Amino acid sequence: MSTRVNPELRHELREFGAEDVDACFNCGNCTAVCPLSRDSTVFPRKIIRYLQLGLKDKLLQSPEPWLCYYCGECSETCPRQANPGELMMAMRRYLTSQYDWTGLSKRLYLSKAWEIGMLLVVGLFIAALFYFLHGPMVTERVELNTFAPVVWVELGDWIMAGILSFLLLSNAYRMYRFVMRDEDGIRIPPALYIQELTTLIVHGLTQKRWSECETPTRWVKHLLLVFGYVTMFLLVVVFLRWFQTDEIHPLWHPTRVLGYFATAVLLYVTADAIVSRLRKREEIHKHSHPTDWMFLILLFLTALTGIVVHILRLGGFPLSTYYMYVIHLMIAVPMLVIEVPFGKWAHLAYRPLVIYLMRVKERAHEAAAVPAVAA
Ligand code: SF4
Ligand code: SF4
Repeated sequence: MSTRVNPELRHELREFGAEDVDACFNCGNCTAVCPLSRDSTVFPRKIIRYLQLGLKDKLLQSPEPWLCYYCGECSETCPRQANPGELMMAMRRYLTSQYDWTGLSKRLYLSKAWEIGMLLVVGLFIAALFYFLHGPMVTERVELNTFAPVVWVELGDWIMAGILSFLLLSNAYRMYRFVMRDEDGIRIPPALYIQELTTLIVHGLTQKRWSECETPTRWVKHLLLVFGYVTMFLLVVVFLRWFQTDEIHPLWHPTRVLGYFATAVLLYVTADAIVSRLRKREEIHKHSHPTDWMFLILLFLTALTGIVVHILRLGGFPLSTYYMYVIHLMIAVPMLVIEVPFGKWAHLAYRPLVIYLMRVKERAHEAAAVPAVAA
């Protein structure tokens, strides 16, 4: 199979954050120290080489950028300060934009105007929906469900979840097509995809491969964050009828306990990451793409405005509660629209998906008695 060279690739990647590509002289130190590199999936040196040579097709087929959890050990040991960890991060951004068939991911990664514009458009759309369609504003007491009937909010939740799931799954399907191209021509029995589903679920929920890095505290924080996301998703989508009520539940009620847990986790982990990026002490936080900031700030504000709505409701401030509720959704909805199919949350889906697909491929190779050789 012929290999096409794209001389523009390194320039394209620079816009995604890969600034030190030429500094690398291919010594291989980074691969030697990487705790996650394996014989079957060797990185990061090989991937940086693809980038230097402009081998775009090889890069698109490579699962390795998704197997890096950005511990930063390679960047600390690189004799040329080529920052391989950040190069792998830039490649994940680039690949996300390449999997996305709408082209929006690329625009959002490369243009602040597009990102801010899309946030504004979606946010103003939410504001317009409430302006024209909100229910009566009871001012004697807080009646959030009269102002924003839970059945309508729930319907909006499910419509949004359907659209975003479709976009994410269709992009994930394109990723599958890229990384499962097999030049050895091995046929993969469909049963293997089913047998390995537990790999997908376990890695999707725990991202446990990260624990093999020498910085397990970051994995624990990430795990907490995932539990926070999942808990909040369940509360505001699946169990919204029990979560958004006008009745003040006792402190020990499951929806309050879980809501406080998810909010505390989201606030703590995002604030911690923001401070770390400002200090630039940790290797992984020395370089920040504008989209990294946007993600953290939006997630922090979503959690903050959510808890402020709750406090205002407990305090018995009707109008403030209604206005803050709209502001909360004007932040939360655009964040989900941007991040789930086109940004950071897509990364969260692509990592376990690649681990799962690599496991399926490995088993197919084992069954065919052909060693799974790295591309
Ligand atoms: S990134 Fe640094 S450590 Fe890795 S191969 Fe290049 S020069 Fe060597
Ligand atoms: S950041 Fe960590 S996991 Fe990623 S390539 Fe470097 S050493 Fe490996």
